[in-house]
Amino acid sequence: MKREKTKHSLFSNVAYALRNIWTWDKAFYLFFIPSIPLAVLLPLAATYFPKVLIDAVESGQDNRRILLIVGIYFGALLIVKLLNGFCSSRLMMRQYNLSLRYQHAITEKYMRTDFVNTDHPDALLKYQHAMNDACSGQCAPEFIWQSLMGLFISLLGIVTYGSIIFLVSPWIIALLFLSAFIAYLITRWQRNYIEKNKNVWGSIDRKIGYLQSFSQKFDYAKDIRVYGMFDWFSDMLTGFHKERLNWTKRVSTRTLAGTCVNAALTLLRNGLAYAVLIAMVLRNEIGAGDFVFLFGAVTGFSAWLNGIGNRVNDVVHKSVKIDYYRAYFEMDETYNHGVGCPLPAESEMPVEIEFRNVSFRYPSSDAEEDTLKSVNLKIRKGEKLAIVGPNGAGKTTLVKLLVGFYYPTDGTILLNERELTEYNIEEYYSLFSAVFQDLYLLPVTIAEFVSSSDGEIDRERVSDVLRQAGLKEKIASLPNGINSRLMKGVFDDSVEFSGGEKQKLMLARALYKNAPVIVLDEPTAALDPIAENELYLKYHELASRKTSVFISHRLASTRFCDRIVFLDHGEIVESGSHDELMKRGGKYAEMFEVQSHYYKEEKDA
Ligand code: ADP
Repeated sequence: MKREKTKHSLFSNVAYALRNIWTWDKAFYLFFIPSIPLAVLLPLAATYFPKVLIDAVESGQDNRRILLIVGIYFGALLIVKLLNGFCSSRLMMRQYNLSLRYQHAITEKYMRTDFVNTDHPDALLKYQHAMNDACSGQCAPEFIWQSLMGLFISLLGIVTYGSIIFLVSPWIIALLFLSAFIAYLITRWQRNYIEKNKNVWGSIDRKIGYLQSFSQKFDYAKDIRVYGMFDWFSDMLTGFHKERLNWTKRVSTRTLAGTCVNAALTLLRNGLAYAVLIAMVLRNEIGAGDFVFLFGAVTGFSAWLNGIGNRVNDVVHKSVKIDYYRAYFEMDETYNHGVGCPLPAESEMPVEIEFRNVSFRYPSSDAEEDTLKSVNLKIRKGEKLAIVGPNGAGKTTLVKLLVGFYYPTDGTILLNERELTEYNIEEYYSLFSAVFQDLYLLPVTIAEFVSSSDGEIDRERVSDVLRQAGLKEKIASLPNGINSRLMKGVFDDSVEFSGGEKQKLMLARALYKNAPVIVLDEPTAALDPIAENELYLKYHELASRKTSVFISHRLASTRFCDRIVFLDHGEIVESGSHDELMKRGGKYAEMFEVQSHYYKEEKDA
């Protein structure tokens, strides 16, 4: 069988899982470690008890003493069983905590990783491997403790039973290893045969399936009848069925042969072990009690030994999955998620942002051209910049780079003359009050949504920003006001918001955050021109003494900006104030003319 190549070694993956358990729940080991000897002790006690009993009877102990031995045995057995059961139940319960931790860690990583990793095909594949392969069903990093426990129990069983038998007769141990090795070879022979040939019968199965589905298709029903294709079909199917049966026979013959050899081997092993033990009894080297005990030990030892291969396989298999899990956490991060340089102080506000020779291509893009091509743009302190241009020009992309969602393929972005990667990315996000095109609500109250917090909320301020955003009447009409819950799908008593109202809610959230940079990416798409104009006036107010970037497809609404940049095919083709650009008579002026005609017609209609 081909081994999957992993980045980390088996030991490293096992150590990773054990270390996590140690970090999250040290008490887990309190139940894990004792479970191993307890699991070996139980069958050992069951094997040992008959010896004690036989020895007692043989040595002529009275009935009361024998009863006492039986009582002690069952008492001890009960205690061991109870202890074992107690440990198992504690482990099962605590394992749930581990499972939640692992799943929580993936979700957390997904939320904190560079934004590009939620879009990058390689990163998404890693996420799927971590989520589906490693953590669905039996979550490998969590369940490996069970596999390890199985392995440790088998090893301890082999050592304990092996030592007992070895002390009595090393020959028996050699015999048992030999028989386990032969049993392993037989299993390997069977497995290899199946591995080698499964594609052959797989292809026959596919042909049978195809012919069956073909014969049942309504479209072919007429042809089959008119052209008398029954016999042809039937002969083909019979041929394939015969071939398939042949393979089934060959496999079952091998399975049967394996079973027979294994049975003969067990018989031989037991027979030889019997012979050695009987010879020892005859030579008075051991008594009848020892004979019974040792014979039980031989059977137990063989079981541990034969099972060890599966135990090892189980651990190896889980290690591969842990590797998937770790790969997701070890993904490349371009941005700084650790300690960053300090954010600009109050005295350094408003901020300045510079794109220096920035080119960008989406990781998933197979387009021939870059989405942004050598963009040089300085957004001055407190400047209100509008970005306009045709659909697909790269406006939203530029904003995504500015906010720190994507990192330039080439060039750099600086905020107050420091490269973006110098800042801790989460702190950097705090500099932006942004409203994007896609509007997502959350299943929380209006107050929580607007303040983006479930802790301390300045309720007066929430009401104030909602009023500024033009939602005063809407909120007044709700029985629970700002305590009304959003999202109907989650809570029955939630309130509905229209597209335009959602955009106003987003604006209120941006107002509440009151961050130094305002970014608006077509926040008014769902509004009519009058409502849009009102909203832009509000933004205008909000943006005073702040640096801001507005994207709008309606050029009229960007007139209040200090500067307008016209983007086309990822390049800045024009830049200047509205009047300058109109005077220039270029692409901006052309687009403005077309739009004002359209609006005039719309108004006149
Ligand atoms: P605009 O905002 O000017 O309409 P965008 O910045 O949204 O333009 O898009 C610019 C180009 O980038 C378009 O061709 C678009 O298809 C492509 N694009 C946008 N987002 C992605 C993405 N996540 N992956 C790949 N290509 C994208």
